[in-house]
Amino acid sequence: MRTSTGTSESVKNPESPEALPVDAAATVARLNATFATGRTKPLAWRTAQLRALRRLLVEQEAAFAAAFHTDLGKSATEAYTTEIGFTLNEIDHTLRHLDRWLRPRRVPVPLALRPAGARTVREPLGTVLVISPWNYPLQLALAPLVGAIAAGNCAVVKPSELAPATSAALAHWLPRALDPQAVAVVEGGVPETTALLEQRFDHVFYTGNGTVGRIVMAAAARHLTPVTLELGGKSPAVVEPGTDLATAARRIVWGKFMNAGQTCVAPDYVLAIGEAATALEPHLATAIREMYGTDPAQSADYGRIINERHFDRLSALLADGRIVTGGDHDRVTRYLAPTVLADVDPEAPVMREEIFGPVLPIVRVPDVDAAIAFITARDKPLALYAFTSSPTTKRRLTTETSSGALCFGAPNTHLAVPGLPFGGVGESGLGGYHGEHTIDTFSHTKSVLDKPLLADPLRLAYPPFTTRKSRLLRRFL
Ligand code: NAD
Repeated sequence: MRTSTGTSESVKNPESPEALPVDAAATVARLNATFATGRTKPLAWRTAQLRALRRLLVEQEAAFAAAFHTDLGKSATEAYTTEIGFTLNEIDHTLRHLDRWLRPRRVPVPLALRPAGARTVREPLGTVLVISPWNYPLQLALAPLVGAIAAGNCAVVKPSELAPATSAALAHWLPRALDPQAVAVVEGGVPETTALLEQRFDHVFYTGNGTVGRIVMAAAARHLTPVTLELGGKSPAVVEPGTDLATAARRIVWGKFMNAGQTCVAPDYVLAIGEAATALEPHLATAIREMYGTDPAQSADYGRIINERHFDRLSALLADGRIVTGGDHDRVTRYLAPTVLADVDPEAPVMREEIFGPVLPIVRVPDVDAAIAFITARDKPLALYAFTSSPTTKRRLTTETSSGALCFGAPNTHLAVPGLPFGGVGESGLGGYHGEHTIDTFSHTKSVLDKPLLADPLRLAYPPFTTRKSRLLRRFL
């Protein structure tokens, strides 16, 4: 297991990261000891950490961008909007509202219990663990960390070993920017994560696939530790005839092929109603050409598949339908063209598992009833997208289906609205975050009741019970 080493010129820290212990138990013990001192609780500590994180991202944008490019071939612009810029927005939103979010909230007291005051108070949980995946390797490590710190916790961040350049960059920079006695980065893969999961944390926040999600939840259960599971799945994009197909196609292509399709909320497949299936095909091909040119392999804005295992898995799916556009692939560079598949059998392998790559199947259903039946017969998606001009279809999708999020007219954008909780339901996840919801995730909402000792109408509830007391209690409670 590796923790960070080295020093930084631009982001200074009073305590040397070199001295950090390297095993899971010692790391957690060290952070627990920090939490016990109370140092992470004052608002001033929290905001200072968030500002330091902000400064780090601004100062080291180029270093992180280089790491995303090494890991995923991400363009600098996409990396800014989906990784650095996204996290900066999350920090700014939190800094703007944190004071208010942390204020105690008064709660009305029933007549029979007055006089008394009641309020809720958010308190930090302690030391939390954030386990993040490779596809947005900075955003998915730091957006939870922002809330963990803002809520007053110590945190261990475990970046994905499948994005090693970004993992190394986080391990290098975070302890230099943040309080290293309160925030630790532990690099590594399954053995290191397993060692961490053996420790008792106060919350485990996991983003990744459902198989590992189950391992995380089972490990956390041993300590009765609450978990957040940000998982994936197949997010459909319903397209109804009569909608603006050119705009729908552009938005689906944008949402699907960013990061070469390796986005948890990307439209996984198009669920086209009736004639929209064939009518959409040329629009999708045009939109891909507009965004990535006639040879996307030459586009600086198109990413690469994370590794050979995923490349092999994805290229095998190309046989599952008629290729409308795309299909080119090269294992050496892990390039897989943005590909649209038509005439796809709902039982084909491409429709059985989350695709998580640049292959977009179109499945045709006859009508809205069939689309709803198709969605509800499968696992609840992380997101359901719909392109329709019909208020009735919108209402039916809202009330007759269940998904982590439901978005009309645009994929992927809901997670940039900080007021909306981001998370799944059922197989797509457990719990949510972003903005104030991250504070909720990493806090305990404590009930506080304060009843003066002077007057004591409570006497009514004390034994021995009389007929009169019983009558009054029934009236007032
Ligand atoms: P991954 O392989 O990077 O794994 C995620 C984390 O789990 C890593 O830190 C890894 O070290 C750890 N891990 C892997 N195997 C483990 C094990 N046996 N025990 C303990 N820890 C282990 O990422 P992935 O799972 O391939 O990520 C892709 C999946 O994540 C997709 O299903 C995608 O939809 C989902 N995802 C969801 C969100 C979301 O916010 N809901 C975001 C991104 C990705």
